Amino acid sequence: MALQRPKGTQDHLPDGSSGSHSKAARSDTRAEAFAHVTETARRILTRGGARLIQTPIFEEADLVRRGVGGSTDIVRKEMFTVHYFGDHGGFILRPEGTAGIVRAYLENGLKQWPSPLKLWTHGPMFRAENVQKGRLRQFHQVDYEVIGVADALIDAEAIALMVEVVQTLGLKGARVKLGSIGDPADRETYNGYLRETFTPHFERLSDDSKDRLERNPMRILDSKSQTDQALIAELGVRPMLDFLGEAAAGHFTQVRGYLDAWGVGYDLDPSIVRGLDYYRRTAWELHHEGVGAKSALGGGGRYDGLSAELGGPEIPAVGWAFGIERLLIALDAEGIELPQQAGPLLFIAALDPEHTGLAAQIALQVRAVASAEFAYRALKPGNVFKEAERRRATYAALIGSEEAASGSVTLKHLQNGTQHHVNVNDLNAFLLEPS
Ligand code: AMP
Repeated sequence: MALQRPKGTQDHLPDGSSGSHSKAARSDTRAEAFAHVTETARRILTRGGARLIQTPIFEEADLVRRGVGGSTDIVRKEMFTVHYFGDHGGFILRPEGTAGIVRAYLENGLKQWPSPLKLWTHGPMFRAENVQKGRLRQFHQVDYEVIGVADALIDAEAIALMVEVVQTLGLKGARVKLGSIGDPADRETYNGYLRETFTPHFERLSDDSKDRLERNPMRILDSKSQTDQALIAELGVRPMLDFLGEAAAGHFTQVRGYLDAWGVGYDLDPSIVRGLDYYRRTAWELHHEGVGAKSALGGGGRYDGLSAELGGPEIPAVGWAFGIERLLIALDAEGIELPQQAGPLLFIAALDPEHTGLAAQIALQVRAVASAEFAYRALKPGNVFKEAERRRATYAALIGSEEAASGSVTLKHLQNGTQHHVNVNDLNAFLLEPS
């Protein structure tokens, strides 16, 4: 059997050249669909002042460990390590974008730039997860990070931009679930409360959560175990939101105030948890029915403590990411199709082998103003139109000996059937006229 791609990866295929698409090229495997998402994100985010950044797809293991958090499933179970001959084995394929961006910010002295610095990126991320719908081992994200300012306006603007990107792509049913995880001191209080609450029921916790009770009780709330979730419900565990200190509560009120004023909809979600120390205050997820209730389309939050975690100074920052594959699933669920790559404006062919070079030369000339393809061998007249249609061309042109002698082409508009003889010198101008 021929070799196959690794489990949990996808090929992003070219759009079909004929009108009908093979089943294989669903939108979540169409390279053009991915490009359309990143181009839309680029337009909206750069209008908002963001600059494109690209960082390596593999980084020092220590960066990933500190940036993503040693207690997370990602670091404990899902890292792809990178080996090459004679290396120290200390590299990891990035599971997300933020740590690399903050590393690059610190390493390249980007804090000299006007603040806040807004950055965006897109590209592949890697997690060795159990593969299922919407859960891949290589997936793709659009990321937005704002570094340098602690004001609640930044959080609100980031949320508004995230919503704008997915809405511009046509998605209607995405909902922001907004919460706050407070400041570190608030979380300490909350963790104390959680320890008190769960300790009498220690034996009923899952093995993972027994572990978490000591190290990071908040992560119990995030547990995928049904028995944990049943226990949480039974005990009526109070949410983090009840434990916000004055400063964090004030910040949260401000963020909500801006979103309300701007008409950006959200649902309060007191259950949002981010178990890592460097997260502060605002946290949100973007959800959509088509993706299922358990997994999010995207997530974001404030991570003022990350820079210091990576060895830099304390620098406030906010960021979000959404998964492009999951976004495409959500768009599919709403019946929204992203545009196909257009066919060429012109397909040109010669009727005799001696004129194929001339057909190519004319195509090259047309490419100064529009897309043009040519036939690499001579075709019968009927086949010129057939081949042009298969490529979804707007015009078909043919060159017989008469056309070659007079320096012209016979041109047919494939949709309305009109036919013209056009001098080669006038062809570019003719093709640009509205048909
Ligand atoms: P996270 O960094 O875990 O908050 O993930 C941000 C977003 O990336 C998620 O909301 C998903 O849309 C996407 N994502 C995360 N993990 C995967 C995965 N294994 N497969 C596909 N998309 C993913």
